[in-house]
Amino acid sequence: MNRIGVHALVWVGGWSEPECQQAIESSKAAGFALIEIPVLDPATIDIAMTRRMLKSVGLEAGCSLGLSFDTDISSADPAVVAAGDRLLHEALDVARGIGANYLGGVIYSALGKYAQMPTSEGRANCINVLRGLARDAAADGITLGLETVNRYESNLLNTAAQTLKLIEAINEDNVVVHLDTYHMNIEESDFRSPVLACGDRLGYVHVGESHRGYLGTGTVDFATLFAALAEIDYQGTITFESFSSAVVAPKLSTTLAIWRNLWSDGMDLARHARQFIDQGLRKAERSLAETNR
Ligand code: MN
Repeated sequence: MNRIGVHALVWVGGWSEPECQQAIESSKAAGFALIEIPVLDPATIDIAMTRRMLKSVGLEAGCSLGLSFDTDISSADPAVVAAGDRLLHEALDVARGIGANYLGGVIYSALGKYAQMPTSEGRANCINVLRGLARDAAADGITLGLETVNRYESNLLNTAAQTLKLIEAINEDNVVVHLDTYHMNIEESDFRSPVLACGDRLGYVHVGESHRGYLGTGTVDFATLFAALAEIDYQGTITFESFSSAVVAPKLSTTLAIWRNLWSDGMDLARHARQFIDQGLRKAERSLAETNR
């Protein structure tokens, strides 16, 4: 069965001890098995405290981040690439330290709007850094996920097909495609064909609505997504991601253009999402079983 997770930004914008406790306890209370912790600034994460809190509550964790233009490993500037390489390894140290087995996000380029096309030199730098990171991650059983995002958040990987190509070039077993319905809704032609194209290479899924608020109140075709996941027998993590101006993370919220209040009560939002995902998955499994009968 899929592990169902929730992004920490549903609860808190920072990672002080009280914030960590609130986020982890709330995730558990809302029925999730995993919390995704943003590690844009790895040095600010208290590894021992986080690990202890996860253990005491009985929750698993994944880590995610987006690089900045100063740490863009898809840059042609060797100094910028080196800074990105260092940051990714610091993030990997956090993932390892807190006992997470997943590090994903926009770890292949800057998270932000580019003013130019990607370059072949930059793409080669990206492949090189991720190959090294994947080998280090594999030693600790950690999987790397390349989150395919919309055109305003990266110029490199906007579709599953592009991500599959990059992963083929990296050529390490522990690198997977990370799909996100919010981004798919903007860039893909539908919610089924990218999932089928990924098949076994799909390793992490973000479910988010078209406006990043309550699931089922926007234009994302979740029924087709869940049916496609059932079709490929996807067993990986599914994490609910939602953002509102009610919870602000200094580095992330402005980059993601979270200007509006989509909700204020994270617990109501999260419980609703948990039920929505559960029902969607069960319905998809039932109809697949009927089709196969
Ligand atoms: Mn996402």
